[in-house]
Parts: sequence; structure tokens; C-alpha cells
Amino acid sequence: MALSIGRHCARSRSLLRRLYSSSPDAAPDLPALQMPAFDHVPRPYAGPSAEEVLEKRRKFMNPAMFLYYKKPLNIVEGKMQYLYDESGKRYLDAFAGIVTVSVGHCHPEVVQAVIKQTELLQHTTTIYLHHAVADYAEALAAKMPGNLKVVFFVNSGSEANDMAMLMARLYTKSFDIVALRNAYHGMSPSTMGLTAHSTWKYSVPQGFGVHHVLNPDPYRGPFGADGKLYANDIANLIESATPGKVAGFFAETIQGVGGAVELAPGYLPAAYEIIRNAGGLCIADEVQTGFGRTGSHYWGFETQDVLPDIVTMAKGIGNGLPLAAVVTTPEIASVLAERLFFNTYGGNPVCSAAGHAVLKILDKEQRQQHCATVGNHLLARLRALQDKYELIGNVRGRGLMLGVEFVTDRVAKTPAKNETMMVMERMKDLGVLVGKGGRHGNALRIKPPMCFTLEDADFLVDALDHSLSTF
Ligand code: PMP
Repeated sequence: MALSIGRHCARSRSLLRRLYSSSPDAAPDLPALQMPAFDHVPRPYAGPSAEEVLEKRRKFMNPAMFLYYKKPLNIVEGKMQYLYDESGKRYLDAFAGIVTVSVGHCHPEVVQAVIKQTELLQHTTTIYLHHAVADYAEALAAKMPGNLKVVFFVNSGSEANDMAMLMARLYTKSFDIVALRNAYHGMSPSTMGLTAHSTWKYSVPQGFGVHHVLNPDPYRGPFGADGKLYANDIANLIESATPGKVAGFFAETIQGVGGAVELAPGYLPAAYEIIRNAGGLCIADEVQTGFGRTGSHYWGFETQDVLPDIVTMAKGIGNGLPLAAVVTTPEIASVLAERLFFNTYGGNPVCSAAGHAVLKILDKEQRQQHCATVGNHLLARLRALQDKYELIGNVRGRGLMLGVEFVTDRVAKTPAKNETMMVMERMKDLGVLVGKGGRHGNALRIKPPMCFTLEDADFLVDALDHSLSTF
């Protein structure tokens, strides 16, 4: 049922009018969709209203922050895969604080680990010994393949990637770094240069020595799903834009902010070979794809059967606490010992206790396997929806790291940006929160806490189905 673009746009305009002219709470035609039952009663909330918080935020906080939804949500409580707003309304969270809440909001075992450590000792830095930090480093190293056995703790994904870049340059004594277009690796001055989206770049000197190559995007890229063909661009780049040697190569296995774009099969093995032949190190950014979220593997890079030299991780590692890590081999790690490296909060006992608890919970609750089961079900249902709605151009991803890209024309792949916003607004009214991403802001990002159930998946797809049926 191909819609002509003109007809489609007219319908979109009328939907926009309908959506934005009435308050979301007053949506007149909500279907009888039943959110799965959940045994938790939120505490009564007596704090400031959404309007009051918004006003303070506008007055006192960073003006560059963005908000979702026409009427921003004031989320005041969370439990596992659910969030509650100021009125006690429950939402199914399919974005997990931007892919950060891994084992579930306020998971009781993470909460207990944090309380227990907080009561004893919050902070000293690494100038003294502390078992919580060392035990956690040992446990994290045990999750890594090969000789990736030395852990550096930092506070954010940007810092982890900064550190990986520094190590690669010191180790190889080269300067040039290769990264992918459509990548997101952070917003610190140096990782802003690695990131390849204009949305996240200020016009300041950045990215000196960083080169961006063709993105092996199976949906939008020129070579479809042929990973090896895209990798040729790296060889071309090294020949033309570098002294023939590079320091390293960064890639996410599934680009997160880029809209859950899974790299074309065969890309990473070919890319790693080219980079290593040019003397470079291969760095896997596992900030979103790590810890079993992809379902088939614990680490995203394993889905392409490669072994990186450095792995960076953040977000899900701490279930929301500010924690990140860089893991590498003893040989590569030793380059930093030429000087002193210090990070005040990296290796904080409280964050380490939380991170350690996360690792244990993931194993105990078999979350990787769970992500595979629920993710496969979700993918199958989303693909069935793609047959029903012309607007869905692409469904992709693995495990609980999925993307749905909307286009107004399937052949031209014209990004349906407004429609994406309308779908999100409608889903929110139905009680489902999803994320948005992609270069054109036209992809839904479905990356819930890893305790998301099959029933939750069905509810999400039903809500999406209903939202799309109003076009
Ligand atoms: N790498 C990836 C893949 C990310 O998604 C992000 C954050 N969105 C970062 C790095 C940067 O992490 P942070 O915001 O903690 O600095």
C-alpha cells in the first residue's frame, strides 16, 4: 500500500494538528492496550511540578540540553523496566536512561551494594588500597577475552575514549586515528573529533589527526551488507591522508546514537587487518553494546569475531552510576606507566561496588540469554509491522539494541523526521518511552533495561502498531 508522498504529507499534517492541538493527557481515542501488570506502588510525590522544574532548568541550567516530548515528562521514580511520573503514571521504559540502566532501575542488589559501601567509605582515591576496586577490576577482567586483562577506571564514556586514544598514540608512536562516519564516541574536546555527526560538533578546533571513513551501514551505505567493500575505504584513506601508519581505529559494533546501525557483516575483521598492517591498534567502543545487551554475545565486537586491542565501556557498566572503564593488554597498558596517570573518581569504592553488583546480577539473572530471547521476539514482531506500514523503512539490531527507521518513501529512503516525533509522542501517551537517533533523527531506538520481558515487548509493539495506524 504505497502512499504517494503528497497524500502522505497531507495525512502527516493532519495528524500533527491532531497531536499537537490537544493535550496528550486528553488523547481522545486511546485503545484499550493493557500494560503488563507490575507489582510496585510508587511513593506519593510531593515535590515540584514539571512546570516548576522546567522553569528552574531554563533559568539555571545548560541551555543546550534537549528534552523529549511536547510536554516534558517529570520522572520521579523508577523500578526495573518501569518509570513513574509525578502523578504516579507508569511508563514502560524502552530507552533505559540512554542505554545506561542495564539490570533495571533501582535494582535492589545494586541499591544494597551502594548503601553498604556508602556507609563504610565513600572515597579516598587510588593513593590508598581498597579491596572493592581491586576485586571489581579482577571480575571485569575475567569477562574479557584474550589478553585484555588490565583495567583503568574513569567516569564517562568520553573519558574512556580519550584514554584509549592517548594509549593508542603513545603505544604506536603514530598520530592518525580512523573512525566511522555516523559514529558517536563522546563530547569531550578530543572525542568530539571522533564523533561524526554535525549535531554533536561545535565549530572549534577538534579532531586533529582523526579521519572518518565510509560507514558500513547495510541500509543506507553504497555497498549494502558487504562489509569488506566498505573496509577498502580505510586502505584508501591510509594511503592518501596519513603517513602510511596510523595509531588506531575506533568503532562501535552497533552504532547507538547513530540509530542502532549494525555494521555490515565482515567489516570489522577486514578493517582490523588493514589497521594492523598500518601499525595501528583496534579499539572497540562497547559503551552501549557491552555486557550481553546484544544477546548473542557478551561483547558487541564478538558478533564480528574480532579481538580488539583496547575496549572502552561505560553506561550499562554501572546501571546509572558514573562509572566507565578502559581494558587493554598489559603490554599496551604499560605505556601509561611512563608518566603518572591520575583520575580522582575513577575507581571510587561506591561506583566499583555498584559495577561489581551489576556483573553478578547479569550472570545470576542470565541477562545475555534473556536479551537474545526477548530481542528475537521483538525483532520478529517489528519486522511483521514493517510489512504492514510503508513508513517503516528498516528494522535492525540485535538483542535489546534495536532500531526502527522511518521513511516517507521506501525507494528514496526519505527520512520521516516529523513522523518519528509523532510516533514517539503517541507511544508516550500510550505509556511507552522509546529513544530517537540516527543522522536524520528518524530512527526509534529500542534499548530497554535488560529485564524487559516478552510481555513488555508485545506491549511496545502493540503501542507502536496503534501509533502508526493513526497515520
Ligand atoms: N561512546 C558511545 C558509543 C556512546 O553512546 C556514548 C554516549 N552516548 C559515549 C561514548 C560517551 O559517553 P559519555 O556520555 O558517558 O561521555
